[in-house]
Amino acid sequence: MPGSELFGQEEKKEVMDVLETGILFRYNHEAQRNDIWKAKTFEQEFAAYYGVKHCHMCSSGTTADDITLAACGVGVGDEVIVPPFTYIAPIEAVLKSGAKPVFAEIDDTLCLSPEGIEAVITPKTKALMLIHMCGAMAKIEEIVAICKKHNILLIEDAAQAIGATFNGKKIGTFGDIACYSFDFFKTITAGEGGAITTNNDTLYEKSHMYADHGHDHIGTNRGAEGHPILGTNYRISELHAAVALAQFRKLPTILENQRKNKSIIKQKLERIGEIKFRHLPDQAGDNASFLSFFMPDIQSTQKLLEISNEKGLGLIYWYDNNFHYLKNWDHLKQLSTAYPLAIDKAEWTNYMSQLELPKTNDLMSRMICIGIKIKWPENEIAPFADQLVQAVKESVSVTV
Ligand SMILES: *Cc1c(COP(=O)(O)O)cnc(C)c1O
Repeated sequence: MPGSELFGQEEKKEVMDVLETGILFRYNHEAQRNDIWKAKTFEQEFAAYYGVKHCHMCSSGTTADDITLAACGVGVGDEVIVPPFTYIAPIEAVLKSGAKPVFAEIDDTLCLSPEGIEAVITPKTKALMLIHMCGAMAKIEEIVAICKKHNILLIEDAAQAIGATFNGKKIGTFGDIACYSFDFFKTITAGEGGAITTNNDTLYEKSHMYADHGHDHIGTNRGAEGHPILGTNYRISELHAAVALAQFRKLPTILENQRKNKSIIKQKLERIGEIKFRHLPDQAGDNASFLSFFMPDIQSTQKLLEISNEKGLGLIYWYDNNFHYLKNWDHLKQLSTAYPLAIDKAEWTNYMSQLELPKTNDLMSRMICIGIKIKWPENEIAPFADQLVQAVKESVSVTV
């Protein structure tokens, strides 16, 4: 699940390269840096792996969300469609941009559904923030078609789906622009870090400029650079980029291990007819960082959670988790912010109090998730799977 399981000599080596020159800044200082460019190298390797023209690293997945919205020109008066099941960062980013986040229903892919998206499109819809949750993909082809039909910009937040593919094409390459996170809990980690990718030259130019106070990054004299736009500082340091680079080179190993470990558990669970797995539009393209399934009803779900607590199975119940699901976000519902936003507070609280997402609520209330470790000793994984199967069987018998 997190790349932190694999920290080793490779990460140390990349970091030491940087410390030996002392140039922790990603730009300029050509004479002193001994040709050590960790952020730039990462961007080249990441773009090549994704088969895209451009990658730009930044300080976090949250700032990557922010950059994609800025590059797409999202701001005051716009609406952006978002999912109710997500890490909250992309929603905060939409609010900060001045636009209104508009929630739509998810389906059994755990991502926004094509019908859910279509139902909330208005003339103000500027972009769709599609979040590929828990390691795998939304119904991406249908969603791309909807965005094209309605002239909506598609931003893919692939922070949780690094390395995932749909019919062989990388998740993150279907939309106009995509974002990734390398925070401490992600599949590859730099402690903190993020990136955006795009094939669009204009979106790329705006992204790297916005993330560095509008600097155009032309020439070798930072002081003499032009500033076509205003921006902010979302730069990544060379130290973080160095760790990300070593981690990224381990991605094939990570994916292989996660897929192997997940299939061991899934094969055993498959024998229980009462549960239904998360729908994967392309099973082979799952990055396998999580295994998610739906229990038949809330009663059996609660029973399973009780057993999980007793036996320390570590099952995740996102329905009650207070930073992944809308139901628990009182600060968002009340728009509790440090400063006033462009969005009208009374209108927002009214919108939130009337918002109903029955399909999402039903799915979330029955959904159980397991984090798949990268290094899971064989003598531990099979007993865990057996315990889990036993617990699920006992739980479904409560109601069946
Ligand atoms: C983790 C995450 C982010 C934010 O990334 P940070 O690097 O923690 O800022 C954004 N979107 C999704 C879907 C995430 O899971």
